Amino acid sequence: GELELDRIKRLLPQWVEASRRLTAEGKVASYIPELSKSPREALGIFIMSASGDSVSGGDCGFGFTLQSISKVFTLILALMDHGEAHVFAKVGMEPTGDNFNSMLKLELVEPGIPFNPLINAGAIAVSSMIGGDSPHEKSARILRFFRELANSDTLDYDIDVYRSESETGHHNRSLAYYLKGNGVIADDVEDVLDVYFRHCSVKATCSDLARMALVLACGGADPLTGKRLIPRRYVQIAKTFMVTCGMYNASGEFAINVGLPAKSGVSGGILTMVPGRYGIGVIGPALNPKGNSVAGVHLLETLSAKLDWSMF
Ligand code: GLU
Repeated sequence: GELELDRIKRLLPQWVEASRRLTAEGKVASYIPELSKSPREALGIFIMSASGDSVSGGDCGFGFTLQSISKVFTLILALMDHGEAHVFAKVGMEPTGDNFNSMLKLELVEPGIPFNPLINAGAIAVSSMIGGDSPHEKSARILRFFRELANSDTLDYDIDVYRSESETGHHNRSLAYYLKGNGVIADDVEDVLDVYFRHCSVKATCSDLARMALVLACGGADPLTGKRLIPRRYVQIAKTFMVTCGMYNASGEFAINVGLPAKSGVSGGILTMVPGRYGIGVIGPALNPKGNSVAGVHLLETLSAKLDWSMF
């Protein structure tokens, strides 16, 4: 029969346009003021196979900030720096079912640590665990790691988004001080927040996301260069968190309807993968009430249903 990638190539334009209609129901995030400038009707997708073939659809040329998608990779870097025992002494492994912005509920498990590394409290704790003698060095190491994963020397911060979030991030600031009070973070709180805001503001395209996802899909080795970038065990941990907590409090619904490890961000990006086969990057800035790209989720539901992609 027809090769799967050829079938996707043939059908993707109509699937993208069908999903794009849902952007009319969505809202672009505005609590970080700079994000409200994102194009509401945009929807793009890039699919990269382990053999180096790719298909793209819709508006996948423009850059957007990683936001919460970055948390998957800072977790991996913290694990590579310190190992599991150190990281999971300060952050838990359980989903919260919490809305992406109901952060003041905090949801700390005993003894006062964040529930998991993908909620803001947990990700801020992880930012404090990145190796380096200064916030500058920690951020530089994170950016270098992201560039390696995306196989791009040009990946960089969106300074306007970084400033915008840093100036208005009062909730994240309060979370970080609370964590400091609980002894979860040892460093200076403003230094930790700077590392966190910076990695959230790294700007990427759908093809960068697809390449980063492909490394996870292939167990931590970049199939196109043959280089091992992440130990297999840490990829397994990251993918498990993506399944249980990657789509905020819609993670269960996404697991049922799509059935792939994924992480979304408030910019409307989604990084997902078909294990062993494809890395996928999606962007659609209009969000549903749970904070996920409304058209992006719909498009992934379509792909998963038509191509039988669910892992379960
Ligand atoms: N930088 C964003 C924040 O902390 C990330 C949120 C997200 O993408 O969920 O508010």
